[in-house]
Amino acid sequence: MTHDVAVVGAGVMGCSTALHLARGGMKVALLDRGAICREASGVNAGTLTMQMTRAALIPYALRAHEMWLRMPEWCDGGDVLATACPGLSVAFTDREAAMLEERATARRAAGAPIELVTPARAREIEPGLSDRIIAAGHCPVDGFTSAYLTGRAFRPALLRAGVDLSEGRAVRGIDRGTGGFTLDTAAGPLHARRVVLAGGVWLEEMAAWLGLRLPVKVLVNQLVVTERVAPVMRTVLGVASGLLSLKQYANGTVLIGGGWQGIGDRRRGGLAVRAENFQGNVRLAAFTIPALKQARVVRSWLGLEAETADALPAIGPIPGVPDAWIIGSVHSGYTSGPYFGKLLAQTVLGQPPDLPLFPIDRLLAPAAQAQEDA
Ligand SMILES: Cc1cc2nc3c(=O)[nH]c(=O)nc-3n(C[C@H](O)[C@H](O)[C@H](O)COP(=O)(O)OP(=O)(O)OC[C@H]3O[C@@H](n4cnc5c(N)ncnc54)[C@H](O)[C@@H]3O)c2cc1C
Repeated sequence: MTHDVAVVGAGVMGCSTALHLARGGMKVALLDRGAICREASGVNAGTLTMQMTRAALIPYALRAHEMWLRMPEWCDGGDVLATACPGLSVAFTDREAAMLEERATARRAAGAPIELVTPARAREIEPGLSDRIIAAGHCPVDGFTSAYLTGRAFRPALLRAGVDLSEGRAVRGIDRGTGGFTLDTAAGPLHARRVVLAGGVWLEEMAAWLGLRLPVKVLVNQLVVTERVAPVMRTVLGVASGLLSLKQYANGTVLIGGGWQGIGDRRRGGLAVRAENFQGNVRLAAFTIPALKQARVVRSWLGLEAETADALPAIGPIPGVPDAWIIGSVHSGYTSGPYFGKLLAQTVLGQPPDLPLFPIDRLLAPAAQAQEDA
């Protein structure tokens, strides 16, 4: 059997692309070497953030924010418990306050309703906040999901749309022939007229299968979760430096992140929490919300986040390879993920996308290098 399209990688980017392609009438194969949404898309902090999103991506993130909040409506009841709440990005120093102002101006121009507020106003919005802050950026459009539910939310909708979902099926390479592509997998070859590569931090090796060198940076992010505690906060909170993200779930646990780095790499995954970064992250959290000093940590984990050289997405056709596309590699990509997948699906279906894609030509190193590296 030949599929109309094979999507390689079942994170949020691959799942959304596959779902929208199947609903557009294509026979879709979605393959992942592990389980659906169990890499970055299932272990991330779930923040649906405008303040940490690049200004150029705000129009995408606003649409995606809406999609997450309405996920049960377009995903056959699939739910990640998306919660809308205000977001605050706080400054403790003059330098951070200047950063806030600069960022708020750029993001406001791109459509995010971010305003700078005084410390007193910030504490009205978030009474648990430290009295050491000197300024804050306030965005009423913020929120979070329970990211570990992402795969469970997508799976029934994918199956109902007729997507041929293969978990535990690693793709080892792709051959391009006259009638399309042959994917080499341990469970035998799979034929498809088109391919979409949606491999997160592994996009670099996937691009090499098609002779391209697409450098992808790997961040080994640490997250920390506390025991259940009485309500200590009601916003999504960050600091201007970007080194903190904080939210409290309905069950009382507080998720602490902010991109502090652990030990690991693309080949071996996340290996170990870096103790000094764990301490730095937790101390900054308790400095920002002092009531957190009483909370005990129950778990810390790692996940791999991809980033391109310019921190903007890689979404578009693969140059020189007709009928092949790529999607991913964007910092804070969970926020915009479902909308990016929808946009790429529109393109593959031959429709004009509602907003422009992010072609990857700008990111490519010389092709000859890919042959050597492969
Ligand atoms: C700890 C952490 C916290 C984060 N917090 C946030 C946040 O709060 N807000 C936000 O917006 N973003 C956040 N991010 C970023 C966000 O999670 C990612 O940008 C997004 O999930 C990427 O989705 P993806 O589908 O591109 O990649 P992934 O979810 O990584 O999916 C790629 C898939 O490809 C599969 N794959 C790889 N190789 C192969 C192969 N050879 N064959 C078949 N399948 C293969 C993998 O198994 C994987 O399932 C965070 C990331 C991390 C790691």
